Amino acid sequence: MPKAKNAKPAKTEKKKTTSEEPKPKKKVARLVKGMKDLLPEEQNYWSFVNKTAERLALEYGFMRLDTPVLEETNLFIRSIGKQTDVVQKEMFSFKDKGGSNLTLRPEFTAGLARAYIEHGMINQPQPVKLFTIGALFRHEKPQAGRYRQFHQFDVEVIGDEKPVIDAQVILLGYQYFKELGLDVNVQINSVGCKECRPKYVSALQQYYKGKRKVLCEDCKKRVTKNPLRLLDCKEEDCQELKAEAPQIVDWLCGNCKDHFMTVLDYLDEVNVPYLLNPYIVRGLDYYTQTAFEYFVAEEDEQKASLALGGGGRYDSLISMLGGREHTPAVGMALGLERVILALKQKEIQPPAVQKAEVFLAQLGNQARKKALHLFEELRAAGIVVVENFGKENLKAQLELANKHNVTYTLILGEKELMDETILIRDMDGGVQETIPLMKVVAEMKKRLKK
Ligand code: AMP
Repeated sequence: MPKAKNAKPAKTEKKKTTSEEPKPKKKVARLVKGMKDLLPEEQNYWSFVNKTAERLALEYGFMRLDTPVLEETNLFIRSIGKQTDVVQKEMFSFKDKGGSNLTLRPEFTAGLARAYIEHGMINQPQPVKLFTIGALFRHEKPQAGRYRQFHQFDVEVIGDEKPVIDAQVILLGYQYFKELGLDVNVQINSVGCKECRPKYVSALQQYYKGKRKVLCEDCKKRVTKNPLRLLDCKEEDCQELKAEAPQIVDWLCGNCKDHFMTVLDYLDEVNVPYLLNPYIVRGLDYYTQTAFEYFVAEEDEQKASLALGGGGRYDSLISMLGGREHTPAVGMALGLERVILALKQKEIQPPAVQKAEVFLAQLGNQARKKALHLFEELRAAGIVVVENFGKENLKAQLELANKHNVTYTLILGEKELMDETILIRDMDGGVQETIPLMKVVAEMKKRLKK
C-alpha cells in the first residue's frame, strides 16, 4: 500500500523499532591488502607496456610460454633458496584440499625452468628463448611500487653460456624502456660461480663477524644464513658498513672475470650505458656470474628510485631442478607497475587503445531494433562504434557522443526508419546530411578511410 504523503512515524515509535531490531550494517566489500584493481582509466598504460613487451620479445626471437599461477611450494624452495626473503617471508603458500603444498608464484624463472625440463625442451635447438607476462604474488609490506600482486615481463634464454647472450638480454630490456620513452641505466655486477663465490662469501663473513652489533636484525641473521644479501640492505648503518666490505670483483676466478669483461665489451659495442655496482647481488640463490638491474636515469643520483627490473645468469638452476647437468641460462624480469609509475612520473602518455569513431544514436523502439543490427554491421566493417541503447532522449545521446569525441554521429529515428534513411552528423562542423540507410556502412567506410 502506498504511504500517505508526509506520514512520518512518531519519534518515540521510531526509536523503539530501532532499538528492538537493529539493522545489521552491511559491510562494504573491499580489496585484499596489497592488491590493486587495474581500472579502465589505467588500461591504456597496461596495453602499452604489455603490447610493447610482446612485440619486442617476438622480434628478438622469443616464444611465449605461460605457466600456471600455482606451483608446488617445493619448486620455489629448491630454486630460490630456503634462506631467501622470498621463501622465508613472502610466499603465499597453503595446503590444498588434497593435502598438496602449493604456492602462488612469487617469480617466473622457477616455473619456466620447470616447464623447460618437463616438456623436454632440451631436445629442441638450443638456446630456447622464452618469455611471459603475468601476475606474481609476494607477501611484502605494501608501499609505493610494492604490492602483493604485481606483474612482470619476463624473458629467459636457456641452453647457452656465452656472454653475448647475457648482453643481448640486457640490450632487450634497455630497448624495451627506450621504446616506451624511458631513459634508464643498467647497473651490473658479477656474483661469480661455485668456484670463486664461496671464497668471497667467507671473506665477507669474516669482515662482518666483529661488526654484528651494528647490523639490523635481518642482517644479523644474514651473516650466517645469506651473506650476499648483506650487500643490498637499505638500512643506514648497514649501508655504511658495506662501503668498506670486500667486493666480489676482486675475488672472481679467471673464467668469471673473462665472462664479465666480455659482457661489458658487448654492451659497449651496442652503446648500452652501464654502471658497475658491486652491491647488485640479486637476493636469490640460483644466480651465477652476471647480475644486473635497471634504474630510471636521474641527474640527481640521490633520487635513485626502486629498480624497474633486473636479472642475471643462473647456470645451475636447471640441474638443481632435476634437468640436465650444465644447462646454462640467463634471464630478466621487469616490474610493470614500476614501469607504469615511471611513465607517469615522466609524464609519458601511452597511445589510446581505441579511439571511438562513430556514435550510433537511436530514437524509438523500432529504431532501436534496427540500430542493434546496424551496430553489428559497422563493427564488422572495422569501425569503432559507441552507443548507449538504454538512453531514449537524443540530447543525452549527443552529449555522450561529444564526450567520446567521435568524428560522426549517426541518428536513426522513427521518421528515418520509415523513409529507410539515416542522418549523419559531422561532429566537427555540425553539418547534418540524410542518406539512404542501406548505404550508411559504405559511406562511413569511405569517410573514415577504412
Ligand atoms: P625481482 O624478481 O625481485 O628481482 O623483481 C624484479 C622486478 O619486479 C623489480 O625490479 C620490481 O620492478 C618488480 N617487483 C618485485 N617485487 C615487487 C612488488 N612486491 N611489487 C611491485 N613490483 C615488484
